[in-house]
Amino acid sequence: SRADITYFGAGPAALPTDVLEAASKALLDFNGTGLGIAEHSHRSELATNIINEAKADLANYLEFSQDNYEVIFMQAGGTGEFAASVYNLVGAWVSRQHAALKKDLGDDEEAILAALRNKVETELKVDYIVTGGWSLKAYQEAQRLLGPEYVNLVADSRTINDGKFGKIPDESTWKLSKDAAYVYFCDNETVDGVEFPAFPSILTPDANGNGPIVVADMSSNILSRRIPVNNYSLIFFGAQKNLGCTGVTVAILKKSFLPPHTVQPSAPLLRKLGLPIPPIILQYEIIAKNNSLYNTLSIFDVYIAGQVLKKLLKTYPDKVDGQQAVAEKKASLIYGALDAHPDVYRVVPDKAARSKMNICFRVTKNGDTDETEKTFLKAATVLGLTGLKGHRSVGGIRASNYNSIPLEGAEKLAKFIDDFAKAS
Ligand code: PMP
Repeated sequence: SRADITYFGAGPAALPTDVLEAASKALLDFNGTGLGIAEHSHRSELATNIINEAKADLANYLEFSQDNYEVIFMQAGGTGEFAASVYNLVGAWVSRQHAALKKDLGDDEEAILAALRNKVETELKVDYIVTGGWSLKAYQEAQRLLGPEYVNLVADSRTINDGKFGKIPDESTWKLSKDAAYVYFCDNETVDGVEFPAFPSILTPDANGNGPIVVADMSSNILSRRIPVNNYSLIFFGAQKNLGCTGVTVAILKKSFLPPHTVQPSAPLLRKLGLPIPPIILQYEIIAKNNSLYNTLSIFDVYIAGQVLKKLLKTYPDKVDGQQAVAEKKASLIYGALDAHPDVYRVVPDKAARSKMNICFRVTKNGDTDETEKTFLKAATVLGLTGLKGHRSVGGIRASNYNSIPLEGAEKLAKFIDDFAKAS
């Protein structure tokens, strides 16, 4: 039964049982309305309240201001955000250049267009830091949409680690573009178990708040640690790890990228510049203007996310700091057990880049890894420790230590790791 299992899957991840119990009732009859939450109109007042409460609770828990940041619910997953970030932030770059040229050239639209074309050709760059499989996919999507000539590879972990992920290149080696349209990184690489230990200092804004435009994918570590939201222009994450169930993706976007501050370029202008035209459903401006209801949104998914946030706020009076302390404790228990047996376990990523969410390791006994890992997984399953198989692209073992894993679950896994090493 559910109570016997601790599920360490990487996503979709386990959700708190009490949230699911409440949700199962809400699916049949939401708050005595006689209609389930998935049946109510997304245009109803009830749906709008669910959206607005989830937005406010997210801002409250992560401690950012809704005056400066808009929260939008999107529907194309983390993968959709790889494209959305390209479209919207390149669009914002075009919009800024256009406004600057208009100041210089007045109403001479032809001259503006020629100058803009020249700027696109000579100055437009988007920067990617590739530290694992997901930032690699985002980098490739940018290359596909824009053309490789516009995409600058700032750093690639594989070049300093025998062709494999597992390290974060030293910032002194990063090749940042001058005035990139944005700098992109993945804060936690789910497949490779690599997490940035802190916000990169080279990207930190100066005392006046001026700095690069930073985009981060936080799909697999959002809500687990404090983040300096003000350092980012865009943070996005799929819900299906720490926030809720699959089906909704969240973007936290600096309001200066939305009207009236920034208006996205029109389709004809983008066409003239040879730049990609975003599908309307990936335009933040459109989604924000409609409070995430441009088209039919799954209110059930937003409801679940909202319930998870309410539970977090109730559990941790000091908000994300409280959850962070627990996440660190759980991770140190599991890494501690692994490090105690270096003859059997090898943690894949470098110590400085170890993820607190996705703990990736190999298991070897008597010179054999593959069979030993199979035995390890079988023995773990017998104890109710499931979902531990590594991603198909890298193999090995991965324990996803998301927020819904209780401390006791991490203790149980740490004990099993210790016992398995000691058993002959
Ligand atoms: N980014 C990260 C860090 C992920 O872990 C994942 C999925 N596991 C994605 C992006 C892609 O998300 P989706 O499957 O929702 O497109």
